[in-house]
Amino acid sequence: MNERNPEEIDRLIQENWDGVCEEVADAAKESGRSAEDVTIIGVTKYVDTDWTASLVMAGCHHLGENRPQVLWGKAESPGFPTKAKWHMIGHLQTNKVRRLLRYQPLIHSVDSERLLDLIAQESVAKNQQTRLLLEVNISGDESKTGMQPQMIEAMIRREIPPGIEIMGLMAMAGLDGDLDNAQRQFHEVRELRDRLSSESGLELKELSMGMSADYQQAIAAGATMVRIGSRLFDGLLH
Ligand SMILES: *Cc1c(COP(=O)(O)O)cnc(C)c1O
Repeated sequence: MNERNPEEIDRLIQENWDGVCEEVADAAKESGRSAEDVTIIGVTKYVDTDWTASLVMAGCHHLGENRPQVLWGKAESPGFPTKAKWHMIGHLQTNKVRRLLRYQPLIHSVDSERLLDLIAQESVAKNQQTRLLLEVNISGDESKTGMQPQMIEAMIRREIPPGIEIMGLMAMAGLDGDLDNAQRQFHEVRELRDRLSSESGLELKELSMGMSADYQQAIAAGATMVRIGSRLFDGLLH
């Protein structure tokens, strides 16, 4: 994968990063929002540690991984830029929680009460506060992960355990690739957040939604975090 010369790879990654920043800023402005309202999370699950480091050097300080082992493998590799802030975006097994917490990630993919309670417990034991998002299954696709809205309502109604801070919701649009459907689903996520927030008094400020193909729809619906992977590596992956 690294047969190309490193300078050329760095240059392409820089170009892609700059392009994505501009497009996200334009999408934000079109929706009457400001570019600073939307954090771009570079999803680096497709690439190795060197390319991931190159993306950080290009200016992308928020990195998303969907496998905890890969996240800590990169974070622990010698010389990896310490500016990186980690985001866990894929399904998290309970036996991976303790080690993952060392990297103080924002965990986007909390998909059960059991996982939430365990993160809380391990965070208290480590004397740290872990920020997390509740993953909602808005599309109803069987194959998509996340919790049904009713389950999230029930979780928010309970007393929130110490050690965690619930920052908002995360969602993925359905698999059909239809952008109108995606837009409608993103609006539903936002409405769910607004309702949960007024019921619970929690701010639930963050909405993590939108990927390379549908981030414009997500930003129009109020996304505060977009998770962009393949678009950042245009011309580099085959
Ligand atoms: C892979 C992945 C992304 C990024 O997808 P792209 O289409 O490559 O931008 C975003 N979110 C999650 C949860 C992912 O697994």
